Amino acid sequence: MKKIIIAIDGHSSCGKSTMAKDLAKTIGYTYVDSGAMYRAVTLHAIQKGIFKGDQLDLDKLKQDIRNIRITFIKNPATGRSDTYLNGQNVEHEIRSMEVANKVSPIAAVGFVREEMVKQQQAMGLSKGIVMDGRDIGTIVFPNAELKIFVTASPEIRAQRRLDELIAKGEHATFEEVLHNLATRDRIDSTRKDGPLRQAEDAVVLDNSNLTIQEQNHRLMELFGERVKP
Ligand code: C5P
Repeated sequence: MKKIIIAIDGHSSCGKSTMAKDLAKTIGYTYVDSGAMYRAVTLHAIQKGIFKGDQLDLDKLKQDIRNIRITFIKNPATGRSDTYLNGQNVEHEIRSMEVANKVSPIAAVGFVREEMVKQQQAMGLSKGIVMDGRDIGTIVFPNAELKIFVTASPEIRAQRRLDELIAKGEHATFEEVLHNLATRDRIDSTRKDGPLRQAEDAVVLDNSNLTIQEQNHRLMELFGERVKP
């Protein structure tokens, strides 16, 4: 069967990653979480003092960016890929509220995007990949055979993210999470480089009222259509 590229874009916390991960597992493709890459750069920036309050030391970030290597390595205990920043497993740290609150300004920096897009395109060279993010169908893989644009209502998204944070033992309120999502969506959609937008040839999937089974069924239908000889 021919291998394709599947690009999944959409708003923050609409279940893109879970959807992309499950799909990749079912069809035997590699899954790449591009958001984890921007989160890892953000963690690096926090650790290296690149944030001065809300201001970024862009000179330092520019010096560092080419030396930031992000890799994904399967964790045998969970069966999932963990994110590594220059050889360090940072899967847990990059999911914190602190990183979530700082990631969008980092992801809006042109030279950061340029470097991440380069690394992402290299990962897709042999196809057979599912990548989720904001600009995958528009910038990273404009020729992807299957593009999906996922969305859900802000309240449903906030509740899902809050449940995730609480399950991991983090403290956050519904209002805090809703505000973080709205802010990230605004910065992601209005930035100059690689803004979040739906590719013209993307299939829209609003999963506010879909069960996981219904969603998976729809994805497999779309996948089947695209790989048909
Ligand atoms: O997908 P996730 O919510 O983990 O992404 C974290 C942040 O990374 C997003 O809010 C967005 O600012 C940025 N991002 C991006 N482009 C991507 C993926 C994520 O700008 N392809």
